[in-house]
Amino acid sequence: MRIDRLGFVWFVVLAVSTCGFAQNSPSAAGGSGLNAEASVSTVPAQAETAPPPATLNDVIDRVVQREHYFMAQMRHLHPLVETYLQNLKNDPTGNPEPAKDEYFLGRLDMTDGPEDVSFVGQPGFGHRMVAKLTGLYSLHYLPLGFAQMVVLDTDFQKKYYKFNFVRREFLGEVRCLVIDVQPREGEKSVRFLGRIWVEDQNYNIVRFNGSYYPQPKLNLFFHFDSWRLNMRPGTWLPAYVYSEESNLKTGITKTLHFKSQTRLWGYDLKGLSKNEEFTQILVDSPESVKDQSDAASDASPVVAQRMWEKQAEENAIDRMQKIGLLAPPGEIDKVLSTVVNNLLVTNNIDLQGDFHTRVLLTSPLESFTIGHTIVISRGLLDVLPDEASLAMVLAHELSHIVLGHPFDTKLAFNDKLFFPDEQSFQRLDFKQSPADEEAADAKAIELLKNSPYKDKLGNAGLFLKALQEKAPELPRLIRPHLGNGFNGKRMSMLLASAPALEDKRLDQIAALPLGGRVKVDPWTDQVELSKAKPTAITSAREKMEFEITPFFPYLTRLSTGGSEKMALTATSPGVQSQQK
Ligand SMILES: [Zn+2]
Repeated sequence: MRIDRLGFVWFVVLAVSTCGFAQNSPSAAGGSGLNAEASVSTVPAQAETAPPPATLNDVIDRVVQREHYFMAQMRHLHPLVETYLQNLKNDPTGNPEPAKDEYFLGRLDMTDGPEDVSFVGQPGFGHRMVAKLTGLYSLHYLPLGFAQMVVLDTDFQKKYYKFNFVRREFLGEVRCLVIDVQPREGEKSVRFLGRIWVEDQNYNIVRFNGSYYPQPKLNLFFHFDSWRLNMRPGTWLPAYVYSEESNLKTGITKTLHFKSQTRLWGYDLKGLSKNEEFTQILVDSPESVKDQSDAASDASPVVAQRMWEKQAEENAIDRMQKIGLLAPPGEIDKVLSTVVNNLLVTNNIDLQGDFHTRVLLTSPLESFTIGHTIVISRGLLDVLPDEASLAMVLAHELSHIVLGHPFDTKLAFNDKLFFPDEQSFQRLDFKQSPADEEAADAKAIELLKNSPYKDKLGNAGLFLKALQEKAPELPRLIRPHLGNGFNGKRMSMLLASAPALEDKRLDQIAALPLGGRVKVDPWTDQVELSKAKPTAITSAREKMEFEITPFFPYLTRLSTGGSEKMALTATSPGVQSQQK
């Protein structure tokens, strides 16, 4: 299993020796007794026609078979993997709160199987990390550690485990068999110990919760809750992994106290490419591709400049979508556009050309503009408490467009787009100058004061205040990768006029937890707003501003009749405080 870095920070499970994890990863030592590749074509057909299993033993046979099919599929898939981790400390009242955070984004590659991993052999992976990590813990978090948690056991065999049926249970609309799984006595390799949820039609594992044992001397396996979604008919793939450890004593007398969310998406990036369109052009009649024939004249200098900028904008957006960083246009963009239109109309602004909005699929809080496209990150959309704070973010970006701030048009040259995905954050840069940032802030305040949001700007200021307060503990969440920093300094006027933060007041919600508002379809990268109803919080502890929570997706099953509809999930409203 290889992870290609997308350019910045890492971290995750730990190994005191960097090459140790591979040797100790689950079942790495055991040889595969079943040819997973060969089962790709045969297993689904069997699953359709085979009679229902009569005994637990029969069920386990099916589960093992499906798990090998799953492993074979994963070798061909290269989703993005994002892990966001918050280290915790106890506040004076004993409640855990974030003290530090870590962020990792990469692409999963299991082509060679997780057993072939060598961190040492991968430039930039092992050594640099050791050198960098002298801080909080002498432990080293490795990204692979969290990616590993999408796999129960790379060599899952009945002979290695004892299985105990617990009960039937619904996860969302999917009925599951709940089975406890533990390694047989005398089992020497690292194996999974915990509970699995198996859907009762094709016997795919849809959730597993536990850890790997025995814990090796030098390494450490975290506890995790790993979820798969039904992304294609009959195919369940990893989407979410939640991990937490409280007061885990490590061998080095340090205590580890953290929680983390791992998300996977971008499974079907091929579906987002333009190859189909190309085929379309070839069969079109010659008339239909002469789309500009009516203009019949060269572009004027001003129009030429605009076309050039448009070309750079479209190139950048296209590329980011193909990498899996940007969601395709969709339903959320309509919501964002409505807010932008509210600002434009009430300020009598005619933009001279259209504008677009797009969602960046990553967690760190950032927003920026690419030409006339406003981009806002999923993480930022998640934590904004209300529409007025969203309007504040969009007003700043809109101001860059209204004020005609320059944008680097080098991407209009196509050679600038030929770079490896993992260099995206170095090659793409949509930062504005400090002077333009200040001008955009001033203009944004002006736009907001004329807008329907003018009476609710206190909430927006409150959000900025909360962000400013948390910034020192959450540098990775606040650090932008493509645009300007969304720090508490932005729009200081709003900040100054905001009411005081009152942590204990239940009716004051300055920011939301991560993951509650935006649902990402991990197969198509489509995003939509969560339909979960807001949950009233019952204690200040449930505010969890900017914090990580466990995942409880509502599982749905795709019909095997070839439906293209995707299963979408959101974190459960039951474990989040979602306030309007
Ligand atoms: Zn800006």
